[in-house]
Amino acid sequence: MTDLLEVRNIGKRYGNVLALRDVSMAVRSGEVTCVLGDNGAGKSTLIKILSGVVQPDEGQLLIAGRPVALAGPRDALDRGIATVFQDLAMIPLLSITRNFFLGNEPTKGSWPLRRFDRRTAARITREQLAQMGIALRDPSQPVGTLSGGERQSVAIARAVYFGAKVLILDEPTSALAIKQAGVVLRYIIRAREQGTGVVFITHNPHHAYPVGDQFVILNRGRPVGNYPRSGISREELIQAMSGGHDLEELSHELELLSGHRPATSALQGSPPSAGPD
Ligand code: ADP
Repeated sequence: MTDLLEVRNIGKRYGNVLALRDVSMAVRSGEVTCVLGDNGAGKSTLIKILSGVVQPDEGQLLIAGRPVALAGPRDALDRGIATVFQDLAMIPLLSITRNFFLGNEPTKGSWPLRRFDRRTAARITREQLAQMGIALRDPSQPVGTLSGGERQSVAIARAVYFGAKVLILDEPTSALAIKQAGVVLRYIIRAREQGTGVVFITHNPHHAYPVGDQFVILNRGRPVGNYPRSGISREELIQAMSGGHDLEELSHELELLSGHRPATSALQGSPPSAGPD
């Protein structure tokens, strides 16, 4: 099967700063590719390259096996690559329906009497969200009344409805409490089940592991690992992400400082479900 989207040895520099170097990864239909890394790892730079916001200096981007240069975000979108950025590009005071269609509203009548087809829009919104497992009380309620997790889910449903083959999610769970993050993770799985190729950017291995098919780990702009799910356990992912060695040293140092007996595994022993954010 051809990859929906692939980057090969991609690199990007900002002046003297090497934001990204030699990163390769593939996005496949019905799979979730997780991109993990701490602050400064190069995650945002990678998203910007994949979504056509910036051009890479090195390497290749391929869509359905063909090398392409994305002219901009609109070009990426036209080719089926949709990005849900953290700010979600939603207008809180407008209804869920209006936000769902923002700029693509169905209309009825003909000019000069063409107008927004409220009923059709509400029906489609309700149906599409129901497909993602969200039962709306009232699609005309302002989007600002939804929880953060629900808003993320509306953004995901919207992208899938408008034909995203590749859905890029920029830290969709990082500002959310554990339960809300769970809601979003469920929709990521739904999108995957519908055949979308999902790129899930996060710094949280506890969120990535349950939904990921592939894990790309970045550190200071460089790839430090690219694992299929079968190739890495949850513990190994946490370890790889956090730089297990540094964490062990820190733990040791803190315990000495606080007068406790050193127990090197203390920090690593935290339960996986804790999902620190
Ligand atoms: P992350 O999203 O993982 O935190 P970024 O992609 O934002 O990482 O940043 C990677 C590196 O590139 C950082 O060192 C950052 O300071 C640098 N960087 C990112 N964007 C710019 C920019 N527009 N100009 C200069 N440096 C940048």
